[in-house]
Amino acid sequence: MSDKKTALVISAHAADFVWRCGGAIALHAEMGYNVTVACLSFGERGESARLWKEGKSLDEVKAIRRGEAEEAAKALGVHDLVCFDLGDYPLELSRDNKTDLVNLIRKVQPSFMLSHSQYDPYNTDHMYTTQVALECRMIAQAWGHNPGEKVLGAPQLYLFEPHQTEQMGWKPDTFLDITPVWDKKRAAMEHMNGQVHLWDYYTSVAQQRANHFKRNSGGMSGGRDCKYAEGFQSIFPRTVDEL
Ligand SMILES: [Zn+2]
Repeated sequence: MSDKKTALVISAHAADFVWRCGGAIALHAEMGYNVTVACLSFGERGESARLWKEGKSLDEVKAIRRGEAEEAAKALGVHDLVCFDLGDYPLELSRDNKTDLVNLIRKVQPSFMLSHSQYDPYNTDHMYTTQVALECRMIAQAWGHNPGEKVLGAPQLYLFEPHQTEQMGWKPDTFLDITPVWDKKRAAMEHMNGQVHLWDYYTSVAQQRANHFKRNSGGMSGGRDCKYAEGFQSIFPRTVDEL
């Protein structure tokens, strides 16, 4: 294992990591982190409406979505894109699938993790993924799971911004300035040809979060300028020596 800092994104579908934390990925990749993205499915049934309307088969839809995710990952500087191909709508993991995810978490030993909001009545695959992420993080920390392996420390789990934000009970406590890598995020979004309607939507979300970054970094009294940002909700407390 290298000494590089690492991060792990657990994404229910192929495109989620792009809209919701593409900036965080690109920014940390530029900082020297190895960012691994685990895509549990391609979003082939639930998030590929345009391709189905064009009459594509399931295999074609999956291949196209995989290709888009690979291109987007390249644009963001993802170190490793791991496609679990578990199917969506509904997404379900067997015990063995969970063990595979635990193995990945232990292999990556992430400094921090990213996944979906804890509640999402529009897309239960998303909130299921967060539940699985928490479960697998817990197992990866257990000394009794595959004794002898390096156990996981206590990486923060950041929940990235969901769609239909106000309906999700999602409350950000962290804003990340992604202005320096905005071009990379926009380029990655533009690889998602099946969801063209979201390109401008997520540009506007980033601009609004930038305003929150400015306000919370000092506002009119020495706040930092910021053009694009992403918001996150953290699950675990921080341990500090100074407030
Ligand atoms: Zn999704």
